[in-house]
Amino acid sequence: KNVVIAIDGYSSCGKSTLAKALAKQLGFIYIDSGAMYRAVTLFFIRNQVDVNDEAAVKDALQHIELNFHSRDYESHILLNGEEVSDEIRQMPVSERVSEVSANKLVRHDMVKQQQRMGKSKNIVMDGRDIGTAVFEDAQVKFFMTADPKIRAERRFKELQSKGDTVTTLEDVFENLAHRDYADTTRAESPLTRADDAIILDNTELTQEEQLAFALEKVQP
Ligand code: C5P
Repeated sequence: KNVVIAIDGYSSCGKSTLAKALAKQLGFIYIDSGAMYRAVTLFFIRNQVDVNDEAAVKDALQHIELNFHSRDYESHILLNGEEVSDEIRQMPVSERVSEVSANKLVRHDMVKQQQRMGKSKNIVMDGRDIGTAVFEDAQVKFFMTADPKIRAERRFKELQSKGDTVTTLEDVFENLAHRDYADTTRAESPLTRADDAIILDNTELTQEEQLAFALEKVQP
């Protein structure tokens, strides 16, 4: 049977960095579930879809096709054939994504697609509900945490390196706090640690140390 590794946790805790490293090491496919919610959010923004309008959401979802293509274990997402990997990381999407991802119809659609991707292949998937809802029977589950200040600084540097000169460190800090709150308090699959998830606090760990820790749990 194929193997699924689930990595959940708060925003910007280093989930995708660890997930990519694990996938590379193990020869698994990496799937960034957050990118899917972000791409849907981008579509909603561009097409002014009202998340509270059920019919509009249903219709929008029928017009969204998401595809991943990967190069060097960097995952790229295509929204209806268009590469949107950079645009979905920018603040307009970050500001709306938790609201869109709390929508029940959106979640049902994404979860169905995610489950399909993990049906026959070995995968590492990161997100908020991978170990609790998408793959409750994942062989290995991690729950990542890190100091909020460090998380904000990391994300801030990332935005700056992409040429964002408008967003301040404080904006990023507030956005992370807002998303953590929204993600942990929503009605549908709120972010929470699965009982059998291994906690990984990376505040004090280098990327190499995190990978070594995780590999040890995957291949004892
Ligand atoms: O992982 P990332 O920070 O890119 O995720 C963006 C947002 O997408 C999260 O803040 C959360 O609202 C939503 N998300 C989710 N379930 C997932 C992955 C992401 O609700 N499995």
